[in-house]
Amino acid sequence: MTLADTPISRLESFLTDSSMTRYVDTVVMRTDDGFRAASADGAVDFREAPDGSIEILAESGDHPLRNQALDQGIGTEAEIAVEEASLGELATPLAYESVVQYFDAEHAPDAAVMWSPQQMFHDCVGNHGSLGGIQARAPFIAAGPGIRPRGIVPEHLRTVDVAPTIAALLGIPAGDGVDGRGRARSGVRLEMQDGDEITDLLDPDERPDHVVVFLWDGVNPNALHDAVDRGEAPGIASLIERGTSYRHGCISALPTATLANHTTQCTGVFPGRSGVLHNTWYDRNRGVHVDLLDYHQMIRARDHLAPGVETIHEALKRHEPEAFTATTYEYGDRGADYSTYAQMTTNGPIPTLSDADRRLHRTEDFMGVKEFRNASIYDAHSRNEALHVWRGEFGALPRYSWFTFNLTDACGHAGGPHSEILHAAIRDTDARMRDVLAEIEFAGKLDRTAVIVLADHGMQRFAIAEPFDLAGALRDAGIDAVLNDDQYVYLR
Ligand SMILES: [Zn+2]
Repeated sequence: MTLADTPISRLESFLTDSSMTRYVDTVVMRTDDGFRAASADGAVDFREAPDGSIEILAESGDHPLRNQALDQGIGTEAEIAVEEASLGELATPLAYESVVQYFDAEHAPDAAVMWSPQQMFHDCVGNHGSLGGIQARAPFIAAGPGIRPRGIVPEHLRTVDVAPTIAALLGIPAGDGVDGRGRARSGVRLEMQDGDEITDLLDPDERPDHVVVFLWDGVNPNALHDAVDRGEAPGIASLIERGTSYRHGCISALPTATLANHTTQCTGVFPGRSGVLHNTWYDRNRGVHVDLLDYHQMIRARDHLAPGVETIHEALKRHEPEAFTATTYEYGDRGADYSTYAQMTTNGPIPTLSDADRRLHRTEDFMGVKEFRNASIYDAHSRNEALHVWRGEFGALPRYSWFTFNLTDACGHAGGPHSEILHAAIRDTDARMRDVLAEIEFAGKLDRTAVIVLADHGMQRFAIAEPFDLAGALRDAGIDAVLNDDQYVYLR
């Protein structure tokens, strides 16, 4: 397809020049008649047909979305064999759908840059965010009443399927609603729903009294399964033994990043439609960068939810107004009776953490590493508040509760997905989770509780390279643009 000489085509030519391949793998953009992914080796143009299927309009060379196989990089050895491969060799499954939803966002950029895995960015050894298969793949493990015990299965689901599946597990009835674009959709559990419930996972003859979710942010599923094999994650091992692990993962949507996919998992709506496109975006109308990793904005992430989006908390209460729900350190918290971030927003009370609890389940060897130290404190609080929740100190025992841990993400960024510091993070997080499960057991409810462990995205090791100033390079090339998060280009 020949492109006219426009600002976007000049941007593409610049980013996909062979001199840039060390830094830039692929650039993804919207076009007049659809979408385009281009690298130095080739390009693909595609669009969404009215029935939702993907139509390829044009392909050239070895284009970057040509290999979307689901079984790539399963197991650490296989992952390491492909970790420096270009996107063309291991794009995430469902890459086309992922691009389409992304550009539905009001604040989507003109082009999204997928960094080369040779090029470390944000000074992190481990990273995620692109359409790469390793970056998109998160674990998903479930066990307990209402869950079919199938063991480790070579299957996948998507982050957008999580909320509908939890809603089904909670017994929220299916009815009429809309999809993330506001089009009528029947048989949905949430008022706005893009995802589908995973019926293979659910036992329709049994309903749990309680559903509890543990989100281990950014934990690489191969690293998690390795830890189980080494005997370092007995909590996860026990869930796999009595439940199901989706070994092809929970596939996150573009951008394969935290705020985007937490929100998607908590609502069943894609990042491009939920109102929370990413951790950060440029708001052209206001001329400001929204940054939901900034503490004061982070605790109010819920304020960005698009009209019509419903959280699992809200959907459950629509059906069961008396149900008590709780969540800790989670952005998708609207409607919860207890939420850490809601408490922080209103200066409400948060249980104090004793010195002994602060030190518990903490691998002292890594306390000199800032990322480890900070996230350990967050997770000690998250565990502590989860215990208070399950002691009934904030209300009834929760029908639905969701507890988020951050240490695995912090250590994956700091050391990469197969580092000693990440191994320590998995051991510590497993111990914190087991304490919460022990509290549920002490309350006499564990055998009536369905337990889900998941992450919001994957984590890939990046080769070390010298820093590259993309904003400066764009400026030098005469491309007038606002760059957000070193990856998202908004042409002026
Ligand atoms: Zn994350």
